[in-house]
Amino acid sequence: MAVYLDEIRGYRVADIEASIERAIEALSIDLASVRTALVKPNLVIAALPKTGVVTHPDVVEAIVSVLRKRGCERIVLADGPGVGLDVEEVFRKSGYAALASRLGVELLNFNTAERREREWKYGKLGVPAVLEDADLYVNVPKLKTHGYTTLTLSIKNHKGMLSEEDKKLDHHLGLHEPLVEQAKLRPPDLIVLDGIVGVEKDGPLNGKAKRAGIFAIGTNMLEVDATAARHAGFDPRDIEHLAIAEREGIGTMDPEVLGDAPLVRFMPANEDYGQVMNIYSWRDCTACSMCIDSFSAGVKLAVRDPRYWFTLVPKLVYWGFFGKLHIIQGREAKVPDAEGRVICLGKCTRDLAESEGLIHFPGCPPSARDVAETMRRKL
Ligand code: SF4
Repeated sequence: MAVYLDEIRGYRVADIEASIERAIEALSIDLASVRTALVKPNLVIAALPKTGVVTHPDVVEAIVSVLRKRGCERIVLADGPGVGLDVEEVFRKSGYAALASRLGVELLNFNTAERREREWKYGKLGVPAVLEDADLYVNVPKLKTHGYTTLTLSIKNHKGMLSEEDKKLDHHLGLHEPLVEQAKLRPPDLIVLDGIVGVEKDGPLNGKAKRAGIFAIGTNMLEVDATAARHAGFDPRDIEHLAIAEREGIGTMDPEVLGDAPLVRFMPANEDYGQVMNIYSWRDCTACSMCIDSFSAGVKLAVRDPRYWFTLVPKLVYWGFFGKLHIIQGREAKVPDAEGRVICLGKCTRDLAESEGLIHFPGCPPSARDVAETMRRKL
């Protein structure tokens, strides 16, 4: 198999569609018999497309157009955003509610989709029926850095198919190997990777948008991921879940590459902690993304909601500029050996908070409102 690479500078549906057509021809992909398609972008949180955090809707619009021209009758766009989020808000802010309505395609929340239980390495896992039944499964990931998995690409993008409970379980199992095992349950038939604008530094949720121009298309998830990783300045063999995928026989990390895309060096996420001013969020691979994001969601809420302007915002300014705040989350969270106040986020850290006498924020994951309220009362 081969991977097709292209350079695309900016989101224009016509340019993206032309690139997909070139890839289909170069890779000899036959879509003539496809009548039903499941298209899975990455819609992990409520974010605007320009942030690079979510797959740009123009990429998905181009895919829908390509499929319809070949006679595809039913197209479903689906993803399961992070645990505890308002999915309507995610679909609205990312532009997918408007896109689905304009194109007349279904938009499905995987978190609540009908599932079939399938055996996997760790027992049983619910796989969405609509994903299994589609003639064609198109995985449309973003190119983003990640504090635990170095990058999030097509193999990692499968995680959105899980139920909320299974998403939490995944972290407890260790993340790298489960990602590969999930991807094996229903491998994509086509991968269209959106690295036109990616995310670097503190990705995948709080990093910096990176205009990279990388657009990669293929039929093997490992081959697309390894190729995109190289073009973002990473050695794919240093990325643990990609190395496991190769050992498991999913594909090769050295496929034939057709076309070309720019080599752009993405700044990696810090594997120890993320930092905004004097506020540190410590990494623990057992922590769910939504727990990690909940502190910043609480801060954003405080900035937006006038009731916190004179109660909480001044405290945050103090801690951000003059104090030192350490946020920890996840089942294996540890108290950092550093000066400052420690906040334990989420149910997983309750015992640690109790035994060490630390501030605890309840929830699984804590909601933005709970975080803001707990900070207002306890900081
Ligand atoms: S408390 Fe946070 S890290 Fe623990 S299972 Fe819940 S969401 Fe995941």
